[in-house]
Amino acid sequence: MANNEDHFKKVISHAKEYGYIFGSSEIYDGLSAVYDYAQNGVELKKNIREYWWRSMVYMHQNIVGLDAAILMHPTTWKASGHVDAFNDPLIDNKDSKKRYRADVLVEDFAEKQEVKAQKEITKAKKRFGEAFNEEEFVTTNARVIGYREKKAEILNTMARLLEAEDLAGVKKLIEDLGIVCPVSGSKNWTEVKQFNLMFGTKLGASADTATDLYLRPETAQGIFVNFANVQKTGRMKIPFGIAQTGKAFRNEIVARQFIFRMREFEQMEMQFFVRPGEEMKWYEYWKETRLNWHKSLGLGEENYRFHDHEKLAHYANAAADIEFNFPFGFKELEGIHSRTDFDLKAHEEHSGKKLQFFDPEMNESYSPYVVETSIGLDRMFLAVFSKSLQDETLEDGSTRTVLKLPSILAPIKAAVFPLVKKDGLPDVAKEIIEALKWDFNVLYDEKDAVGKRYRRQDAAGTPYCITVDHQTLEDQTVTIRDRDTMKQERIPIYVISERLNHSISYQQWLS
Ligand code: ATP
Repeated sequence: MANNEDHFKKVISHAKEYGYIFGSSEIYDGLSAVYDYAQNGVELKKNIREYWWRSMVYMHQNIVGLDAAILMHPTTWKASGHVDAFNDPLIDNKDSKKRYRADVLVEDFAEKQEVKAQKEITKAKKRFGEAFNEEEFVTTNARVIGYREKKAEILNTMARLLEAEDLAGVKKLIEDLGIVCPVSGSKNWTEVKQFNLMFGTKLGASADTATDLYLRPETAQGIFVNFANVQKTGRMKIPFGIAQTGKAFRNEIVARQFIFRMREFEQMEMQFFVRPGEEMKWYEYWKETRLNWHKSLGLGEENYRFHDHEKLAHYANAAADIEFNFPFGFKELEGIHSRTDFDLKAHEEHSGKKLQFFDPEMNESYSPYVVETSIGLDRMFLAVFSKSLQDETLEDGSTRTVLKLPSILAPIKAAVFPLVKKDGLPDVAKEIIEALKWDFNVLYDEKDAVGKRYRRQDAAGTPYCITVDHQTLEDQTVTIRDRDTMKQERIPIYVISERLNHSISYQQWLS
């Protein structure tokens, strides 16, 4: 297996070569941290969105969907706190002229302590062999304890400084820790400044009457401002949820990790409205439910972990991330936040409209508390794509590149080939395509030797290849080849559809 950096490079080049992701407006040299989804990418993205939507909306009788506009009344962002507090602390290195998020520099440094602790554990494992007791080791070994204490102390200090908006203190922390610029290697830092991440725009034709607007930095606020509309028209009773997917925009300070951190991206969010006092129960429920959703895709349970937040956002009383093992390490994939009644109360205050629920069981009205699940669709795409992309050495010593996408998410479900371009085989293959296309995204390919066609579909992530040969003309059977096992099986043509249906059944995957 190539090292992580090489693997990440391969992910980016493979995504381009196989029609998944292109840089935005590439003919003009692109736009930083903005990407376009190509012919296969758009399908994978749509399928991930659908997988999420079904599990949230169709699987829960008390969750409904919404598609709010990207542009919203500007007071929305005053009420939500984004105008005043949606900031990241930035710092520049004077020698390299590179810009960083100050908190990320400190977090990365803190993570190095954990890496050191892990090295000690690996060494000890080798030394003690079978007799090694990891739990005992990590609680008694002075070095491991020391590294972990140091990590916690650094993160706590930073959380405290950011909470107090002590930016000079953050700079001093960076200096005291001796953090150097990864590019120049120097400690020649500027002051730390706050930077608001919202993109501004204008509504209206003439400069003097135009209204200042923002492109939404999250989809959640579209849900909050529609709370009463949905509750009343849908006759929703607490607890209930509203789910939404859609574009969000953030003028990110540093955006260097492909589609992990983009300036224009898509979120899949669900706000769950609950009785005050019951939020922790639902917070735990959604943490578990969301982790199970991730695990259902079979990318490997060891690739997920929870990270409970030390520094809480201004609206939250509990928050955790589901982190995924990306090619550059464990990073946030999804956030689960207990947002209290902060948003509904704030919108009530700023709009003068009542955003409460009359609870018939309690015979009283209240502002519901909210538990949010928020996942980046593009980050989820990167998680699925990077884990699925594998180089395999086969029994005969040759290698193949295979994109082992979960079949429920694969852009093309099956490719249909005539073995040769003559003897009527293409006609039969095309007839099969005509029959399947109503239910599945299928592809016809007759170019090159069949082995080469298999490899092409392996690399593109197509789970099945169906080949029409001379025997098909006699007994109406075809071979179906499984991308992952490479096993071929002969089945009647009429069974193909059933096979494909089984492999992409939501019930199979989600339950
Ligand atoms: P980070 O700490 O990585 O900046 P965040 O905590 O600001 O993320 P949230 O505001 O909780 O992120 O957004 C919810 C989800 O939206 C994240 O878990 C992530 O998957 C996704 N997301 C946030 N910012 C971006 C971005 N710039 N590009 C792609 N996805 C993003």
